[in-house]
Amino acid sequence: MALKTGAEYIESIRSMKMNIYMFGEKVENPVDNPILRPSLNSVRMTYDLAQMPEYEDLMTVISPITGERINRFTHIHTSTEDLMNKVKMQRLMGQKTAACFQRCVGMDAFNAVFSTTFDCDAVHGTKYHENFLKFLKYAQENDLTVDGAMTDPKGDRSKAPHDQEDADMFLHIVERREDGIIVRGAKAHQTGIINSQEVIVMPTQAMGEADVDYAVAFAVPVDTEGITMIIGRQSCDTRKLEGASMDTGNPEFGGVEALTVFDDVFVPNDRIFLCGEYEFAGVLVERFAGYHRQSYGGCKVGVGDVLIGAAALAADYNGANKASHIKDKLIEMQHLNETLYACGIACSAEGHPTASGNYLIDLLLANVCKQNVTRFPYEIARLAEDIAGGLMVTAPSEKDFRAEVTGPIVKKYLQGVASVSTENRLRILRLIENLTLGTAAVGYRTESMHGAGSPQAQRIMISRQGNLAMKKQLAKAIAHIEE
Ligand code: SF4
Ligand code: FE
Repeated sequence: MALKTGAEYIESIRSMKMNIYMFGEKVENPVDNPILRPSLNSVRMTYDLAQMPEYEDLMTVISPITGERINRFTHIHTSTEDLMNKVKMQRLMGQKTAACFQRCVGMDAFNAVFSTTFDCDAVHGTKYHENFLKFLKYAQENDLTVDGAMTDPKGDRSKAPHDQEDADMFLHIVERREDGIIVRGAKAHQTGIINSQEVIVMPTQAMGEADVDYAVAFAVPVDTEGITMIIGRQSCDTRKLEGASMDTGNPEFGGVEALTVFDDVFVPNDRIFLCGEYEFAGVLVERFAGYHRQSYGGCKVGVGDVLIGAAALAADYNGANKASHIKDKLIEMQHLNETLYACGIACSAEGHPTASGNYLIDLLLANVCKQNVTRFPYEIARLAEDIAGGLMVTAPSEKDFRAEVTGPIVKKYLQGVASVSTENRLRILRLIENLTLGTAAVGYRTESMHGAGSPQAQRIMISRQGNLAMKKQLAKAIAHIEE
């Protein structure tokens, strides 16, 4: 059975021997670590929802490769409908977790590597597509969560990979052997890597001839010897250690990123998807980034749905819900959120088949989608904070709420409308705090800015894809200009 249960997934991660560090110490049991566990729960939801009949059409699909029903997170898109369903699935996942559920990077890497290896083989006579299909089949049959690793630390941004003072600032091949290659370097802010069984590594940018050793793509298990992960700090992360779940805002779910080091890691030949064909590095980056920019038109919208709901509840709970300006702010939040969704759907609907047969989104519209994502969640968060009021950041802790002396005071003076308990009012404010300033703000705010590429990366793509010359011709025709 290709579909795993959430419990089977957790046990699979538990059985791995990953090399993870946090707060300067090795984490021997990441699965049960209170800071890390919410991120694992988010990925687990990609398995749990796939088991529910009501979500079967969205979360699962029959694989044309294995002929079995698989999780959509391991699927190769074969139609524009597949592309749209991907976005809908991500919105659903955002609604159910209010966090980054991490598994999309692998799905986006699958689809980018699928078509790029096909194109590279056609030019170079390499066997990368065959290698990749074997890996993909393994991932589909075992319902794996796979990280997609792209972003290198990059060192001095004015210098090419081969020109860096420290050669490891971009991940590169240090040795070519008969049975494979040895690679060294690092990938920064790796979403969900500690909750993944495998990692697909890709180049971070277009490469020139001198960067031939840096044009490398491959997949290895995350617990391969030589891989070390250092967990990224999140705002308010240690609240999860306090045993006061109310203060976390979202007690069950979260996201996680890690700085991941590849210290002379061996990659066997059949796991190599690019090895020196530098002109395909840029192609791979463009496609992966395009898919992941589409993704944000789903996941951030789902999290936005939760934030809008929380803001509306905050207004209900303090009796401000009838004020016309509050109603208008909620309308504005929905308008912005649905605009993001429209972009995610549009770039999918305008998708097209690649030479390999899978479907690629419309790159211009996907980049417009992500460019909007660098802005609208900030405005939605601003409006949510406006509606929530200052109490969102000045309310006493759950421990005060429960303590003998302070509890009755907090309950009495932080009461809103009489029909709603002070506890529920505080829970909603903490959720808004979590999404705008706390651990989930990584995923909803700063990741909206920089994830899948910073704003300028999309502007470069928009300038390339926007076809300004055609637009000039249109204007000339209308104005009767003949040259
Ligand atoms: Fe998925 Fe969104 Fe997280 Fe990227 S940021 S992995 S698209 S949930
Ligand atoms: Fe992301």
